Amino acid sequence: MSFLPHRASYRKNTKSDKEEWLLYHRDGKLQLIRIANFVPPNWWDFFMKQNSIFNPNQQQNDVSSKIVTGLERVSEVFKVLLWEKAKLVGLSPIQIQLLIFIAYHKEELCNVSHLAREFNITKPTVSDAVKVLVKKRMLVKDYSPTDNRSYIIQLSSLGEKLVNDANDFAIPLKNQIDSFTQTEKESVFKTLSELIYKLNRIGILTVQRTCFGCKFHQRNGSTDYCNLLEKELLSQDIRIDCPEYKEDINIEQKTI
Ligand code: SF4
Repeated sequence: MSFLPHRASYRKNTKSDKEEWLLYHRDGKLQLIRIANFVPPNWWDFFMKQNSIFNPNQQQNDVSSKIVTGLERVSEVFKVLLWEKAKLVGLSPIQIQLLIFIAYHKEELCNVSHLAREFNITKPTVSDAVKVLVKKRMLVKDYSPTDNRSYIIQLSSLGEKLVNDANDFAIPLKNQIDSFTQTEKESVFKTLSELIYKLNRIGILTVQRTCFGCKFHQRNGSTDYCNLLEKELLSQDIRIDCPEYKEDINIEQKTI
């Protein structure tokens, strides 16, 4: 039964109660029913619901909404694969993510503050996860000689073994991506790398290490150039997590 948009209501105060009546249209007939505590329709909410990215009817006419919904589905794949691996190795998903990140990134990024920004979690959450992994002898803390409160986090040999066992969790996703043609992959990658940069620029994605935000990156007309590697960057050469990345402090003047 649909009450919208063919409906009208009126309210009558009696001695004992408020009466609210609803007139609605069903099967070609008008019907009147009495309802208590009828809440008048909020047309703004109704409008927002109709235009929601997640409303399948709205998606029919809007490719951007379809892409957002698709990205949401892919993020679920990532979550599922990570959970499966976590169950297998007896760690939590974030513990696996921390171990893998530490295995492949330089020391200056392996501290509690950066890890919290990287994974959009609080510092106490990182500290707790690190504490557990130290207890399990997978991580070691290397304290600063000048400040005994600050430390960098390193993998132990047991941690390295765990990373070897766990870092294949995304292979099912990569296998599917491998099945696309090179041109298709390059087109998706171009869009994805620019999207990551734009999300970072508006503050949603706190950390990114793509060429577009790097001080060595230069846009010459429609081509990209790396002043560190001294080479032109084709679309497929743009890096998404570059070890040489240095944040560009003059980013405001840059247009991608
Ligand atoms: S240093 Fe790395 S991130 Fe920066 S422009 Fe060169 S390739 Fe890109």
